[in-house]
Amino acid sequence: MLRIEHIGIAVNSLEEANAKYEKLLGRPPYKTESVSSEGVNTSFFQMGESKLELLEASKENSPIRRFLDKNGEGMHHIAFEVQDIHVEIARLVGEGFELIGDGPKAGADNKLVCFFHPRSTNGLLIELCQDKQ
Ligand code: ZN
Repeated sequence: MLRIEHIGIAVNSLEEANAKYEKLLGRPPYKTESVSSEGVNTSFFQMGESKLELLEASKENSPIRRFLDKNGEGMHHIAFEVQDIHVEIARLVGEGFELIGDGPKAGADNKLVCFFHPRSTNGLLIELCQDKQ
């Protein structure tokens, strides 16, 4: 694990949240991106070596929609940057952490990503991400 790459925050409206976080952070998002496979629209704010990722559901029955229905807006996940996502997945699965799905896939911000279930991590959804080469 190299660093906290970003913190993900689930929001009802990306447009409203972008305006609010632009005021809060004193800078606009440096990009917005839709990940249709995940049913999510995202925006990213650079904060030193870390980022904030805002996530809005782009369709019904997306994971973000289910999270918002259950928990409301708020912190959704922490993402750790890793050097080799395949090595880290094997290590964490070996340690008993519960991988969601079956391996890395293309995520937002030009990354390979995977997630570990909160029931295996004291209640927090954990993302691993690695820059695509
Ligand atoms: Zn993320």
